[in-house]
Amino acid sequence: MDLNKKYRELLKKEKAYTYALQILNWDSQTEAPRDCFPQRAEVMGFLSGEMFKISTGKDMQEAVYGLYEQKDTLDEITKREIHKAKKQLDRITKIPENEFIEYNRLLQMAQRIWEDAKANNDYQSFKGTLAEIIEYTKKFVSYYGEGKHPYDVLLDQYEEGMSMKEYDEFFATLKRDLVPFVRKVLAVRDDTNYDFLSRKYDIDTQKKFSNYLMDVMHFNRNRGLLKQNVHPFTWGTSPEDVRLTTKYVENMVFSNVFSVIHELGHATYEQQIDSKWNNTFLEGGTSMGIHESQSRFYENIIGRSHEFWETHYPKLKSLFPEQLKDVDVDLVHRGVNRVEASLIRTEADELTYPLHIMVRYEIERMIMNGEIGVDDLPEVWNEKMEEYLGVTPDTDTEGVLQDVHWSSGMIGYFPTYALGSAYSAQFYNAMQKDFDVLGVVKTNDMGKINAWLKEKIHQYGSSKDPKELLLDVTGEAFNPKYYIEYLKDKYSKIYF
Ligand code: ZN
Repeated sequence: MDLNKKYRELLKKEKAYTYALQILNWDSQTEAPRDCFPQRAEVMGFLSGEMFKISTGKDMQEAVYGLYEQKDTLDEITKREIHKAKKQLDRITKIPENEFIEYNRLLQMAQRIWEDAKANNDYQSFKGTLAEIIEYTKKFVSYYGEGKHPYDVLLDQYEEGMSMKEYDEFFATLKRDLVPFVRKVLAVRDDTNYDFLSRKYDIDTQKKFSNYLMDVMHFNRNRGLLKQNVHPFTWGTSPEDVRLTTKYVENMVFSNVFSVIHELGHATYEQQIDSKWNNTFLEGGTSMGIHESQSRFYENIIGRSHEFWETHYPKLKSLFPEQLKDVDVDLVHRGVNRVEASLIRTEADELTYPLHIMVRYEIERMIMNGEIGVDDLPEVWNEKMEEYLGVTPDTDTEGVLQDVHWSSGMIGYFPTYALGSAYSAQFYNAMQKDFDVLGVVKTNDMGKINAWLKEKIHQYGSSKDPKELLLDVTGEAFNPKYYIEYLKDKYSKIYF
């Protein structure tokens, strides 16, 4: 049979399983009653097993490796698709099956061990497991990394085309041009009363504002929905079905507001991808960094702008007249852009956020280079926090143990968060050349922004890699200058 036809059929089967698993997973994360989980785990185990067989089995290997051999006869798009498929297949098939199973068992245990260690501020009880995860990671990379530096292989895995060379330059630029500015902002004494941020805001009314935001962003409700859970996320099975969640906390109304806008950024990206990529290897957003650039563009550049609140604050105030009676739009704008040296990454503001990532990048780099071991981690962590943010955690719970990533085997993932923010500023700069972006925000014409992003970025799905996209959209390669200029400009206006 024609190899391409065979490949398409296998992919269609695999996608059917993926779809079923994703919907079940979505249900698990949002509405499933507690007692359904044992039986559900069995069903999901079965479905995952079947999917794994299809996606890595002999037929798939024959199809993908066969097509890869003929790659010079393929059109450009199929060539990229097969290149991506081969890379993923290599990652799985080159690892001996028994090691793969052992590793997954380790990860499952690691999750609980890390949770306990974090709850009890007991790094010692976790470090052995972490050392094992690092060893496995290095070993696996040696199987499929084609001799490249292990950290480079991991970085590329999470953000195609990125390596230590690029990230070193990026973070060195931040260190040189941004860190001194952040320290200056942190030194400003701010006597403003921000009480309103933590007043009680009834959750049902908060939900009304979420709905309002979905309309502001032109979210297509025929192609998606919003629910609530503990950790907000977005899930797109195809542009026709994009689901997102948010978290409601009574005394943190803006936590929901910015979660919704952030996740709507991810969701808008997924909804605006051309359906022609459905059931191919090129569906979905192209990378972690590009995805994060879209969510952070909407959340920070749009959602935390003065113009946004000039337009939408009246609605929030009409929903919460009591809580907001003494608060004007300037105070809201200042409150949602308040800069603080915090210990916890997920609570960090837009300006200090990249420094939290810098700490993690430098540590991962040293670990993968063998410059430090797990014994050194808490101390190195604390030193770097002091150096960049001027704060030292009292406990490892608030320090090296705070994030889930390493216990899940995700080494090399963190840098994409900072990269996403930096990409978003570069895209923003390009968009500004075409129209006055914040002017459009002020007249509540988000459709114009969505249309620009669709035309330049979203429609392509994964058919362009991040480097290609940046070049096509902005006319140049990744350049952190735009990010630093954007941050300095914005926060100078607020603080100086
Ligand atoms: Zn995100």
